Amino acid sequence: VEHKTNVRVLMFRYLAYGHITPFFELAKKLSDEGFSIDLCSTPINLSLIKKKITEKYSCSIHLVEFHLPNLPELPPHYHTTNGLPIHLQSTLYKAITMSKPQFYEILKDQKPNVLVHDLMQPWATGVASSLNIPSIKFCLTSIAMCSYFGHFFLKPGVEFPFPALYLKDYEREIMRPYDVEVKEELGENRAVMLVNSSRAIDGEYMDYLSEIGKTEILPTGVVIQDIAINEEEMEIIKWLGNKMENSTVYVSFGSENFLTKEEMEEVAYGLELSNVHFIWVVRFPKEEQVVSLEDVLPQGFLQRNIGEKGRIIECWAPQTTILKPPSIGAFLTHCGWNSTLECIEFGVPIIGLPMNFYSDQPLNARLIVENGVAVEMARNGNGKIHRGNVAETIKNVFFGEKNIGEDLRRKVKGLRENIKLLREEEMDEVVMVLKQICEKNQSKMDA
Ligand code: UDP
Repeated sequence: VEHKTNVRVLMFRYLAYGHITPFFELAKKLSDEGFSIDLCSTPINLSLIKKKITEKYSCSIHLVEFHLPNLPELPPHYHTTNGLPIHLQSTLYKAITMSKPQFYEILKDQKPNVLVHDLMQPWATGVASSLNIPSIKFCLTSIAMCSYFGHFFLKPGVEFPFPALYLKDYEREIMRPYDVEVKEELGENRAVMLVNSSRAIDGEYMDYLSEIGKTEILPTGVVIQDIAINEEEMEIIKWLGNKMENSTVYVSFGSENFLTKEEMEEVAYGLELSNVHFIWVVRFPKEEQVVSLEDVLPQGFLQRNIGEKGRIIECWAPQTTILKPPSIGAFLTHCGWNSTLECIEFGVPIIGLPMNFYSDQPLNARLIVENGVAVEMARNGNGKIHRGNVAETIKNVFFGEKNIGEDLRRKVKGLRENIKLLREEEMDEVVMVLKQICEKNQSKMDA
């Protein structure tokens, strides 16, 4: 591979599963542009990426190990492959932040021209600047969500100018304690921020946050994980292949959520009542005790529904592979940002059911409803999932009189096209700005 620049970028991402892919995909794109990339993460996380570094990237993408302290609250197996239960996120956050001195040593050793770090590790900016290394944050959620919180921090007392984005009562109460964290993330040194998105999705929010936050926001043009087919995945693909076009709903709530027993029941009965074919990824904590699918699902559900009607995949599914076949008619999702982008890239209508009210999910849901590519499933007034709503919403999208499904599909495909049109231009700008930042720093150092 011919290298067009000799710029070295060190990329340092947060450890949650949803952050692996966007960093790696961006690394590949930058490497295509001639940058040399050091991906810094824990050995277990790096081992997931190592398998994906093809010959093409073997000279330009390098792995740099970062070690977490051994906190007793963070058992070693939770560092592994398929995401992390949400209740351990704060411990993980603490563990990474404790590793600041180690990260200082890594940067000092590697001396990259620029650091690209996760917005969720805001302290990395300070470590880099103490070594005169310029840095850029990489945001892995919608700028719609960042501008919503940025607004309340930067413009207190002023009404938020986009009525499509709002929090419901039951969401707002839970969100409050997290304000402090949001403030820190949007804090000082807001010069340039990359985001895994496109101006086609939340461009007006990018303009707004740029204006109030004095930040230059650069979308990378939506990067999602590659499709990888292996043999176990084939069986489900064959099953999907025998289904009619737009006949099946894919149901998954991301890498971090475990539904409560009550929620599991409501989703199960809702799917059953909808009478739509389904593939449901069921996750439950396994470490604490031995449990099986029979223990977590309503009695008789498997016998009545599994076979031709529906499929359950335990714990982890090849999501992008499943989203591709034409038999998938909608994705019932928690609106994690990666899942949202994957839906759009595969032209799949979205049924949004945000799960973690203190995360980006509720605002992501409002954003994609505003874009016309999603409907949001109603919860009861107290925020509980109800089987009747589950069944009705799915039925509406699949068989509704007003052709809701058709309309969503048309719009999601339109959005995908608009993203595609902007992609090259957006990436070119990212590359140009990265080079400029490095050059500016070099001449400052030379002076
Ligand atoms: N994912 C997957 N299989 C699963 C669950 C999740 O491949 O069974 C992938 C999904 O395709 C996405 C990521 O994990 O790329 C989840 O990220 P997202 O932002 O949607 O949600 P989070 O897990 O962060 O809540």
